[in-house]
Amino acid sequence: MRSILIIQTIILFTLGSCSKERIPFLPQFSEIDYLIKNGTIVDGTGRPSYLADIVVVGDQIVYIGEEDFSYDDSKVRIKNNIDAKGKIVSPGFIDLHSHGDPLKYPHMQNFLAMGVTTMTLGMDGSSPEINPLSLWMEEIDKQGIGPNLAMLIGHGSLRNLSGIGVKKNPTKEELEKMLSILDESLKYTFGLSTGLEYSPGLNAESHELRSLAKVVGENNRLIMSHMRNEDDDHIEDSIAELLEQGEYARVHISHLKSVYGKGIDRAEEILNILNSARDSGIDVTAEIYPYNASYTGIGIVFPIWSKTQEEFNKVKLSKREELESYLVNRINQRNGPESTLFGTAPYTGKTLADLSHEKEMNFEDILIDEIGPNGASGAYFVMNEELQDRLLLDPNIGICSDGSISGYHPRGHGTFAKIIEKYVVNEGMLPLEEAIRKMTSFAAKVLGIDDRGILREGMKADIIIFNPNKVRARASYTDPFLLAEGFDIVMVNGRKAWDNQKHSDQLWGKVLKPN
Ligand SMILES: [Zn+2]
Repeated sequence: MRSILIIQTIILFTLGSCSKERIPFLPQFSEIDYLIKNGTIVDGTGRPSYLADIVVVGDQIVYIGEEDFSYDDSKVRIKNNIDAKGKIVSPGFIDLHSHGDPLKYPHMQNFLAMGVTTMTLGMDGSSPEINPLSLWMEEIDKQGIGPNLAMLIGHGSLRNLSGIGVKKNPTKEELEKMLSILDESLKYTFGLSTGLEYSPGLNAESHELRSLAKVVGENNRLIMSHMRNEDDDHIEDSIAELLEQGEYARVHISHLKSVYGKGIDRAEEILNILNSARDSGIDVTAEIYPYNASYTGIGIVFPIWSKTQEEFNKVKLSKREELESYLVNRINQRNGPESTLFGTAPYTGKTLADLSHEKEMNFEDILIDEIGPNGASGAYFVMNEELQDRLLLDPNIGICSDGSISGYHPRGHGTFAKIIEKYVVNEGMLPLEEAIRKMTSFAAKVLGIDDRGILREGMKADIIIFNPNKVRARASYTDPFLLAEGFDIVMVNGRKAWDNQKHSDQLWGKVLKPN
């Protein structure tokens, strides 16, 4: 025993002196921006954590060493030292599906506070309706943004830009125009998003979706889809529709859920569909947020024939009874009026049941006479925890917030903290390395970002430092804007964007371009 100890001591001593002799190993850098010492590295690949020092110069990681980083201080100046002893050092999180207006809220501190260093916009078929979209992106870049931004182009917006709007069958010329704007936009965006449950995207049929998918595939980009119908009895059809497009391009299910489905077995059935598609060569992935309520416009409960204001106004006069009974069935199927919680004024914080009680009206009449399909947004408690948790654990399913800085749902301020707090620390459902892999390298791979999402020499320095035991997702349904806590340092492009619960004055994020 004693001799082993002596040998170990000799080895350690020798290693120590070796590394001292490796002094000129970064001869090209006379200045180092950050030396992060003694951290426990979880590098994003899923491999077990290890102790190492990280050196950042400019916006890049230039060294990760399992040995102590040593240097000749007559030749190298260290501008900032960070002691990460006892803390996890990992890549910043990449949010696969987010919302918000960076021109209005450039700091996006809700994302930074939960460790997100790259957000995504242009989701659910909707991106700014500016052609070319690059003009808007340049504006964001000029103004600056807290986290990085990966942009998608929305199918609904493309329909509007090419004059198709809500038409079922675009003319050949209109379709050509849409495909050419798409083709051009994909040179500088990460892919196409569809929102087939929303107008105008819901008017698209198979031929149109396949034509779009071909262009996406030719550009080696992906399709992220808010599928046509997320109800449990439609989920198979919705996935099948997306997998058809998967014959041409990588496809990804946005915020995968089964509305009113229940149980682990049902989750396994859904996962089996995705696994067999993958076995047959389709590149399909998905993402999920860790909450059991969705959040969107109240239009989600209205029938397909009364989603737009124009349709609704007509239906209200001509088919009122049919509309009433549709709404009664739909709301009851979605766990009743107490499970719809409004998040927009003047109903903020009230459920549909509360309103019905207050106004002494049937809830269907409130929906028709007071609100309408475009009059409010809300949270809908329509998901089953066992089912959603099983989906979340699958290795081909990543994490998204689907949230924004102004959305009245805790996911916009809590998601990534909740994954660490609940799934890793409190319930031990995910190993830390796996949780971080989902939120970093997995997400980067889905989007096609190859210089972020892993801590490795040569990668961009999007780095977060935290103690998992101190991470808290404080946002709740009644208090959805509370910032997450516990991410001590959030570095974006080699600069501290979030430090000690405060954002920096400067905006270090970039509008990312696909490689
Ligand atoms: Zn969506």
